Amino acid sequence: MAAGEGAPTAGSDRPLRGPATVAPVYEVQPIQALPLTRFEPLVGEAHAARLRAAAERAASALGNRSVWNVNSTASGGGVAEMLQPLVAYARGAGVDARWVVIEGDPEFFRITKRLHNGFHGQAGDGGPLGHAEHAHYEQVLTHNAEALGAVVRAGDVMLLHDPQTAGLVPAMVRAGTLAFWRDHIGADVANELTERSWAFLHPYLTEAAGFVFSRPAYVPDWLRGDPRVHIIAPSIDPFSTKNADMAPSTVRAVLAHAGIIQATGDLDVPAFVRRDGSPSRVDHVADILRAGPAPLPGTPLVVQVSRWDRLKDMYGVMEGFAEHVLAGTDAQLALVGPNVTGVADDPEGAEVLDECVARWRTLPDAARARIQLVALPMADVEENAAIVNAVQRHAAVVVQKSLAEGFGLTVAEAMWKSRPVVASAVGGIQDQIVHGEHGLLVHDPTDLEELGAHLRRLLTDLAFAEQLGRQARERTVELFLGSRHLIEYAELFSTLIET
Ligand code: UDP
Repeated sequence: MAAGEGAPTAGSDRPLRGPATVAPVYEVQPIQALPLTRFEPLVGEAHAARLRAAAERAASALGNRSVWNVNSTASGGGVAEMLQPLVAYARGAGVDARWVVIEGDPEFFRITKRLHNGFHGQAGDGGPLGHAEHAHYEQVLTHNAEALGAVVRAGDVMLLHDPQTAGLVPAMVRAGTLAFWRDHIGADVANELTERSWAFLHPYLTEAAGFVFSRPAYVPDWLRGDPRVHIIAPSIDPFSTKNADMAPSTVRAVLAHAGIIQATGDLDVPAFVRRDGSPSRVDHVADILRAGPAPLPGTPLVVQVSRWDRLKDMYGVMEGFAEHVLAGTDAQLALVGPNVTGVADDPEGAEVLDECVARWRTLPDAARARIQLVALPMADVEENAAIVNAVQRHAAVVVQKSLAEGFGLTVAEAMWKSRPVVASAVGGIQDQIVHGEHGLLVHDPTDLEELGAHLRRLLTDLAFAEQLGRQARERTVELFLGSRHLIEYAELFSTLIET
């Protein structure tokens, strides 16, 4: 299925309403309830007590209201990654939390990707955002709103995520729900492109019950000082397949099976545990472009894991590594992203991967032997997560050289795994890492020399790299786990309903 075609993605398998030709919304399921008590051993008694209290208060305030999350893909990217566990924990707290995916056609996703790039201050495909785009955006969302309208009830709480769903606000307000718009993206400094995206969405948003932004810098001028605005940072789930502990021998087995490192010696089973607790094993292999054999298990591997999105700058990581790291170290680079047909709302993926492949082909032999482009299987989202888990745990250094970033989940994932991180000082990454304490920041994200110097430092000063990794994990436990995120949502909804 091609990216952006709007067909159901993995995990979204039950139409709530309507024949397949009428753009139904899909409820992602099954989302099994997870107990909040899981967090207790990790977060300490005070935090655990606050979580229990917030959960009880929210369950009682919400009563029989449902909490609906609405976004545009069930797999691929940070929002999908976060919703699964947050909905599961909310269900574990006795809240009827749901996750629904809207559908759109390729033109809809081209428009929303343009808005997305604009919110990051970037031109994207350079296309227009005029009357025709408004008309198309509204037409697609009207179909989705009809399907949603049939299942939501007055009084329900709705979290409509990102530009793809912002246009649902008026219909959901009319349906009597408490409709929040949840924005995960933004630019450090507004420019005419951010303003253009805001101008497009503003008319749809005015009646929202509330707004949740990942950081204060993303709040637009027209909402500054508005009491409906709330700031909640994203989070990771430390117990998900992506982040659960994995023994080093399993890490090696998973990576060898996927083809990312060489299979040497006796290998364990490439095993992982699914969300529902059932045992499984990595079955599919990755599509890999490389010259020569896979790296040996002991070869230091620099890794960036992200979607094939221009703003993640996989291309720049490859250039920086080839120019500034290759000669001074024995490290290899793996650029790791999803198989490009696997992310339904990202029309840019194939193009960006093609650009990286074309550039890779022009690199000298010595560089091509040490740089691999890896497209991970997306047929089974949990298997994909297990491979990402293994790649991040195996990495000598994790890079996130984004040109813009709402909040880097990949950064938080690597920090949780005590990996030393080199990341651009952009967007939410600046809240995640204090330079020199929890990782190294590249102050100008286009500065390949600075990127190279940080990488060489962490590849050679292993004690420093280890110290950064240790401190990164502590910071993640303190600030970026799902338990904190849930407390903030629970308190927000309880306050709104009680007053
Ligand atoms: N990811 C994944 N498989 C891939 C590439 C990325 O599961 O092949 C995940 C990654 O681990 C992270 C999410 O997608 O959980 C990306 O979130 P992030 O906030 O870094 O960026 P976004 O894609 O939301 O812009």
